[in-house]
Amino acid sequence: MRSADNQRLDSQVQFVKGVGPRYAKLLAKLNIYTIRDLLFHFPRRYEDRRSFASVGQLRGGERVTVKGRVADVELVPTRSRMTILKVYIDDGTGSLSLTFFNQPWNKEKFVKLRGKEIIAYGEVKLGRFCPEMLSPEWELCGSGEDSFAAIVPIYPATEGLMETRLRKLIRDAVESCSGMIEEYLPDSVRKHRKLMGLREAVVEMHIPTSQKKLKEARTRLAFDELFVLQTALVRRKMENASPGKGRAFRVPEDFDKDLKELFPFEPTNAQKRVIGEIVGDMTRPECMNRLIQGDVGSGKTAVAAAAMLLAVRNGAQAVLMAPTEILAEQHYLGLTAMFERVDFMNIRTELLIGSLTEKRKREAYERIASGEADIIIGTHAVIQKNVNFKDPGLVIVDEQHRFGVAQRGELTRKGAAPDVIVMTATPIPRTLVLAVYGDLDISVIDELPPGRKPIRTHRKSKREAPKVYDIIRGFLEKGLQAYVVCPLIEESEKTDVRAAVELYEYLSDIVFSDYRVALLHGRMKTDEKDAVMKDFRDGKISVLVSTTVIEVGVDVPNANIMVIEDADRFGLAQLHQLRGRVGRGAEQSYCILITDAETEDAQKRADVMCATCDGFLIAEEDLKLRGPGEVLGMRQSGLTDFKVADIFTDTDILSAAKEEASRLLREDPKLIKKEHAGLKAAVAAMYNPDEAVGN
Ligand code: ADP
Ligand code: MG
Repeated sequence: MRSADNQRLDSQVQFVKGVGPRYAKLLAKLNIYTIRDLLFHFPRRYEDRRSFASVGQLRGGERVTVKGRVADVELVPTRSRMTILKVYIDDGTGSLSLTFFNQPWNKEKFVKLRGKEIIAYGEVKLGRFCPEMLSPEWELCGSGEDSFAAIVPIYPATEGLMETRLRKLIRDAVESCSGMIEEYLPDSVRKHRKLMGLREAVVEMHIPTSQKKLKEARTRLAFDELFVLQTALVRRKMENASPGKGRAFRVPEDFDKDLKELFPFEPTNAQKRVIGEIVGDMTRPECMNRLIQGDVGSGKTAVAAAAMLLAVRNGAQAVLMAPTEILAEQHYLGLTAMFERVDFMNIRTELLIGSLTEKRKREAYERIASGEADIIIGTHAVIQKNVNFKDPGLVIVDEQHRFGVAQRGELTRKGAAPDVIVMTATPIPRTLVLAVYGDLDISVIDELPPGRKPIRTHRKSKREAPKVYDIIRGFLEKGLQAYVVCPLIEESEKTDVRAAVELYEYLSDIVFSDYRVALLHGRMKTDEKDAVMKDFRDGKISVLVSTTVIEVGVDVPNANIMVIEDADRFGLAQLHQLRGRVGRGAEQSYCILITDAETEDAQKRADVMCATCDGFLIAEEDLKLRGPGEVLGMRQSGLTDFKVADIFTDTDILSAAKEEASRLLREDPKLIKKEHAGLKAAVAAMYNPDEAVGN
C-alpha cells in the first residue's frame, strides 16, 4: 500500500515547478518521466569546489574554484560576429579573466559588480597576459542563491539540456518535492545497519553537505538496491526450499555401479564432489536449485548425466535445455551413447529442437507426454506451450548465461516442482554469483580431467596467415583436425554469411584442396549442420570452417588446433569459450589468433589469451575491459541496472543486504507484517516480471 505522498511521486515530471512540457520532453530522453525518476536521477560524480585556488598559482588545464573581486570588464571586438566578454577578477595573488562568448548583455551586470567578490568555477587556460577561464560558472559571493562553492553534483546530461540547467531543475525539485519521499525500510534494518533515512539520503545525494554525509547517503541508496534484490532472491529461494514442495528421490543401492557403467572414464574428484552435492539435494524433499560452475572442458555434461540417471531411475523424466541447436544435438548424441552403456535400463532419449519437421515434432511431443521418452534434450523448443511432460523431475539448463532469468522460471513451471540445475562455463566472480544467483546453491568443478595440456596460444598478423595454414597442414598430416573460426558475430546478415562462404571456398579450393573442408554456420538447416558436425566428429572432415555457432560446448577431442580469424572482433570471454573447443584430447593443442588490430584493447585481449588458459583470470580481465553487463550477458536480465550500487566494489554492502534480507524473511516469510508493506511493494515494483514467472 502506498500513501498519497508516495503516489504523488509517480505523477508526471512536467508538473514540477520550473519543468513544464518543454523540459519534460528533454528529461524523457534521460528516461525521466515522473517526479520519482527526477529525484532518483543521481549525479554521475561530484566536484568539490569548496576550496579556492590562488589565482597567482593557477596551472593550465586544472578545474578550480576561485574567489576574487571584479576589477575590470571589457567587451572585446572580434572580426567574426562573435562577441567576447572579459571580466577580470583579482584575489590578491593575481588577476584572472573570466571569458564569456556571445553574452554582450551581461556586460552591464558585471560593471555593476565592480569591487564585489564573486566565485567562479571552470577550467583554467593560460592566456597570453593572464590566466583565463572560458565560460565559467559563477555566482555573487554570499548571494546564497545557488551556492556552488560546495560539493557540486555533476549529472549525466543530454543533448539540448545543459548540465547546469539540469542541476538547477533537480535542485528545485529536491527542494519542493523531497518531502514526498517516505521511508520504506523497516526500522529494524535501518537501525541495525545504521543507515541514513531515505529522504535525507536523496537530498544529500543532490545537495551534499559534507563528504562524510555524502558517503552515508550513497551507502544507504546502494543498500536499498541490493537489499530489494536480495529480498526477492532469498524469498524465491525460501519458497523453493519449503519442505514437501519438491520431491525426494531415492538413491538405488547399486547406483555407484550404474555410474561406473555410465561414464567411459573415471570421474575427477571435483566431479565426484559435485555429483555428491547434487544427489544430496535431490534426495531431500525440497526443490533443488543449484548452479554448476565449471570452466570449459571441466566435464559438466558427465555431472548432468549422473543427475539425469538418478531422476530416471526414480521413474521421472529429465530435461536438458541447451542454448543452440548444435549443442542440443551434440548433447543428444553424447548422452544417448552414455545412457546406452547403462544397458539394463533401456533409457530412451528424445531430441526436441525447433527445426525438426512438424511430423517428427508431433511424435516427440507424444513420446514426451506418454512418458515413453525418459530424457528430453532440446533448445528452448522444450519450453513451448504445446510440450507436456508426463513427469519432469529434473530440469537442467546448460550454459546458463544465455538464458534470461525469465526462461529459467518458464521451464520450472512445466513440472509441479522439478529439481533444477543450471550449468555455466562463465567463471563468475564469487560476489557476483551472490548478487545475481542468490537464489541458487553453487557447486564448482574446479579441476580439469587428467592429462589435459594447457592450450598454447599465439598471435599472428594477417600477413602470416599462409604460414599459419602451413602449420595446420602439419597437423592434418598427423591425422588431426582443425577449426577455423570466422568473425561473424551477427549471423542474421547475409553479408556475414557470404564472408564465411568465401573463406571456406578459399580454404577448400586452394589451401587445403587435398583435404575435406566443411562449412558450418547458423543459417544452415539443422540436418545440414547435423551432418557436418557428425562427419567432423567422426573424422571424415579435416578442417571445419565455422562461425561462432561452435562457441559453446562442441566436443571433438581429435581437433586440436584452432585458428581464429580477425580475433580482435571477439570479446575475451568469447575467445576463451571458442578456444575451449580444443585441448580436449591427449595431444598438445594450439590456438592461433590472427589479428592486425592495434588498438590497446585488442592488444590487451590477445596478450591475456596468450598468457593464460585460466577462465577465472580471463573473466576478471574481461570485467576490467568491458564491464559486467557485457561479460555475463546480464544486460537483458536487468540485474546490473543499479543506479548507485556497484556489485564489484560494494561487496560489504551486498553481504549486509543479504544478511538483513535473510533475517527479515525468516521472521516474516511472506512480508505480511504492516512494517514490511513498503518493502514488499518495492520488491514487487522492481522484480515483478520475475515474480510473475517464478514459482
Ligand atoms: P564442459 O564442462 O565444457 O561442458 P564436457 O562435459 O563437454 O565439458 O567434457 C569435456 C570433455 O572431457 C568430453 O570429451 C568428456 O568426455 C571429457 N571428460 C569429462 N570428464 C572426464 C573425466 N573425468 N576424465 C576424462 N575425460 C573426461
Ligand atoms: Mg558443456
